[in-house]
Amino acid sequence: MGRAKLTVSEKFNNRTERNFTTPLINGCHCLDWTGGYSGNGYGWVLDDDKKLKLAHRKHYELTCGSIPSGQLILHACDRRSCVEPSHLRTGTQRDNAADRKARPKKQLTDQQKEEIIKNESPINVIARMYSVSRMEIKLIKGE
Ligand SMILES: [Zn+2]
Repeated sequence: MGRAKLTVSEKFNNRTERNFTTPLINGCHCLDWTGGYSGNGYGWVLDDDKKLKLAHRKHYELTCGSIPSGQLILHACDRRSCVEPSHLRTGTQRDNAADRKARPKKQLTDQQKEEIIKNESPINVIARMYSVSRMEIKLIKGE
């Protein structure tokens, strides 16, 4: 007997994890995607139409409705791994750039950097744990 295929909604139930180490935004901690990831840090999900979709965009569509054409989905939490609907909103490339400018860059403490160097988990797991980019983890580890 073959394994029953999950619908895309079921994938979001099975392949997400509430990240309680992240700050509350709109009353919710981040909901991290635990499925596959693209090289640039966004989650991928295979949609019911068998096409690969960006996980945060697909989750927005499922929970909030369709995305107007040409619009980006912006993260209030600035974490690409997050698919929490209350952290997502539509916006333009210009909004995205403005967001980025307004946001203070997250600074890790020396102690956190030492922990990261010793941590042998995969880069994307560590990046999620500390809510920073994979690039930053690689820099700290000197990879
Ligand atoms: Zn979030």
